[in-house]
Amino acid sequence: MGGLRPQEYHNSIFEIDLEKLRRMGKRAIILDLDNTLVRWNDPAPTPALLVWLAAVRGHGLKPCIVSNNSGPRVSEFASRAGVPFVCNAAKPRRKGFARAMQQLGVEPHETVVVGDQLFTDILGGNRAGAYTILVVPIDRREFIGTRLVRMIERRVLNHLRRRGLLSPK
Ligand SMILES: [Mg+2]
Repeated sequence: MGGLRPQEYHNSIFEIDLEKLRRMGKRAIILDLDNTLVRWNDPAPTPALLVWLAAVRGHGLKPCIVSNNSGPRVSEFASRAGVPFVCNAAKPRRKGFARAMQQLGVEPHETVVVGDQLFTDILGGNRAGAYTILVVPIDRREFIGTRLVRMIERRVLNHLRRRGLLSPK
């Protein structure tokens, strides 16, 4: 179950300690889009998100969106946010993460992956050799297939929590 274990777990992206990541030598932060940065299919970044992205860059971290969602949704959002992107990423496959790291010019050990789903973001990020951070999904307004996966995901999280493998939450 190691591939499903995030290194950190937070209520939202806003709780991530960016200064800690900088001190750890991280130089890039790969971000899931739906339910990590905004609600599912919300077309525009929020003002709070834009402020956060500025803080990310201020800590020497290059942001990049890696999403399984399709081209127009991701490209429109990413251009509004001023962030490079990889769409149709097929997470948890490694290739979308690899393409993002190549675009950013960073190695896996310098890369953080942030997302709200264990079976795509965290499993994929761990496979890609990155430092992984799970966040609580912004809301439950999401794709029916995702809702089924959540049931299994809760079981895995409970298992990790019981074994003391989930920190700091
Ligand atoms: Mg997501």
